[in-house]
Parts: sequence; structure tokens; C-alpha cells
Amino acid sequence: MRGTLPVLTMFLGSPILLALSGGAVSGPSAGPPNSSLALAGATIYVNPTDEPIRDGIILIHDGKISAVGSHANVPIPRDAQVLDCSGFTITAGLWNSHVHFFERKWANVAAIPAPELSRQLQAMLTRYGFTSVFDLGSVWENTRLLRSRIESGEVPGPRIRSTGEALVPAGGLPSDIVLSMMGSMKLPAPEISNDEQAAAAARRLLDEGVDGIKLFASAPRSTPLSESTLHAAVLEAHRAGKPVFVHPNNGTDVLTAVRAGVDIIAHTTPHSGPWDDTLLAAMKEHRVALTPTLTLWKSYMRHDRISAEDQVTNTELGQLRAWLATGGAVLFGTDIGAIDYDPAEEYSLMSQAGMSFRQILASLTTAPAERFGNANELGRIAPGFHADLTVFKGNPAEDLRALTAVQYTLRDGKIIYRANN
Ligand SMILES: [Zn+2]
Repeated sequence: MRGTLPVLTMFLGSPILLALSGGAVSGPSAGPPNSSLALAGATIYVNPTDEPIRDGIILIHDGKISAVGSHANVPIPRDAQVLDCSGFTITAGLWNSHVHFFERKWANVAAIPAPELSRQLQAMLTRYGFTSVFDLGSVWENTRLLRSRIESGEVPGPRIRSTGEALVPAGGLPSDIVLSMMGSMKLPAPEISNDEQAAAAARRLLDEGVDGIKLFASAPRSTPLSESTLHAAVLEAHRAGKPVFVHPNNGTDVLTAVRAGVDIIAHTTPHSGPWDDTLLAAMKEHRVALTPTLTLWKSYMRHDRISAEDQVTNTELGQLRAWLATGGAVLFGTDIGAIDYDPAEEYSLMSQAGMSFRQILASLTTAPAERFGNANELGRIAPGFHADLTVFKGNPAEDLRALTAVQYTLRDGKIIYRANN
């Protein structure tokens, strides 16, 4: 059976067995919560490509996966807490690679009581199974504090990476009125118009510890940033080993940004028509990843004639389809914070663009883990990996709608979300 040997090796070498053979008595209540946990009985997708394990067992010890396999091959240690997952499906914890912590609800995060903060994180992310997110634009000082309250163990929540404030073309910042209507706190984003300003703004953010750089290639009422200016910011980020995201408004923005060396295209651009072969070839050649944000553009059209909405939807689906045909990487991302939290429609639209469950699962797990340098510890269910897991009530391989029916979300082996029913 696949995986049996590493499973046993990990198991024999683990402190669980040593404790048993040493005669130590430890029940479910001994030790820190979930220090040894078994998820039992589920269908397990260890990654997006292997066949699922039926009636599987995942053993977790000290926040890491110590074994995974079928019930017949993985004995449950006597002292482990057992979580019955019969009828459920388990995947690696999901990533949302385009979120924002700029809504007013996160402002002055130091003053938000932990239980309220926890509820907000559940409502936005963990109830949908997200254990890792990339924030692409917020007040860095505030988001950093949110993250440290999670990392200290005070508040259960996902792993957060953030670009902090996005770099925008001079004059391109939305007005306070627009930001307020978007439900956003004030965003002191650096405005740039030349190479020197781009490099300086990127360097300052990187010095302050951001995890990537986000650029708006263009903005209303301002001159689009040149390839050379985008490249100046890219150079600083890459020197620090950090990825660069771009918000494009049209196909020209995408091409300019790709040539400038950005890593992730944070949106499709349905308002400027289909992506042509020149653009797709450049994206492929530069090995960028795409976050489609299909729901976003569709929802922005909700006040327009339905034929216009259809046109935008068809164009974005066509762009994603064309990108998939090149074999390019897709990272799941919804721009939540800017739109509603429920990812159901995004899954449905990705499926309409031709993505299978396994391709969607890759965009939620292995693809971001690889893109962001965590392929050896996150994104798959394997011994030694962090026990970041999403437990679904049904089987999303049979019905995609199950992807939003989350029973448990675990991060480092701890349950950070549990459905009430
Ligand atoms: Zn965004």
C-alpha cells in the first residue's frame, strides 16, 4: 500500500509509542489539547493527484502529521484523542491567495477582544476551511498585529502573509468616500510615479517586514506605471526573496507587468476583452501564476444589464480557460474583504471554466504552497507536514458544493473552526 513504509517509520520513531512502552498512562485529557490526535474514518485526499484513501486515518502529534493511511495500515495509539470523521472528506488546509484585512472591522486590532476577533476570522476564513491566506493590501502595522495575536496563540486563526500597503500610481488612490463605501479603513498607500519612488516604497515596506509587494499597474485618473517602474519594485522584492503581485485593469497592464517580472497576476481582466496569444505566451514564458477572482468581476456587474454581466463573465471564464490550456499555475483567491466571504460561486465559476475538482484543489493547496516556498511543509497531507487540515461534511469530488460545507478546520493540529451542527 502506498505510503505504508514511511508511515510505520514515522510511527515507530514517535514519542507516542515510547510513552506507551514506557508504561506512561495518559488519557485524552492529559497533556496539552490535541497533542496526539487521530482523525478516523474519512476519505482523504493527501494531495490533488493521488487516489483518495478510503476509511483513512490521520495521526497528528505536536501539531505535525505523524502518519496517514488506511485504517488497516495505521494503528491508532491508545492515548490519542480520536475524532470520528466517518462520512467526511479531508484535504490539506486551504489557501486563499487574495484577501484583504482592510475592512473597518479590523481597525485598531489591538483593541478588539479575542473572542470577537476569533468570530470575525471564522466568519471570513476558517469556516470555509482557509488555514493560510495572502493579504494583498491593508494597513501593514495593523495586519502585522493581527497576525501576532494569532501566532501568540491568543486568537485561533489562519497563517497570514501580507504585502501591507499596495503601491499605486500617483493620484490613483480611491477617495476617502469611496473607501468608506467599500467598508474600508483609511489606507495610507504609497503613491509612485517613477523608478526611484517605486524602489524606495518597496524597500521601505520590505524593511518593515512585509511578505510580498503588491502593485497597481494602473488606476483611474492616473498614468499607468511603466515596465521600468514596475521592474524597479520587482527588483527590490526579489532581492529580498519575496513575491510580487499585480492588480491589472486590462490586458496591456498584464503584459507590462509580466515583462517587468511580477510573479502573480492578482485578477483576470474581463473588461478589456480576451487575452491574445502574445499575452498568454508571455505569461507562460515568465511562469507567472494567476488568481482569477471571477466572482469579483461578475458581482461588480450586478447593477448592469444582464447581457453586459454575461459578457464579462464569459470573457473572464475565457481568460482562465486560455491560461489553463497553457498549463499555467492558478492560485485560488477571491479578493474577500472587497466582496462577500462565501467562496461557493468562485468554485462554481472555476468549474464552469473547465477546472476539475482536482485542479481546483491544487489551486487551494499545492499550487500556493509551491509558489510561496512552503511545498515541504504545507499543501499536502504527509508525515512531517504541518497538520493544517480541512474536514468537509460531504465529498467535494462528487459535489463541488461540499467545498463550502466545512465541519472542522485544523491548524497545526488544533481545531480552529468547528461547525455547530
Ligand atoms: Zn484585492
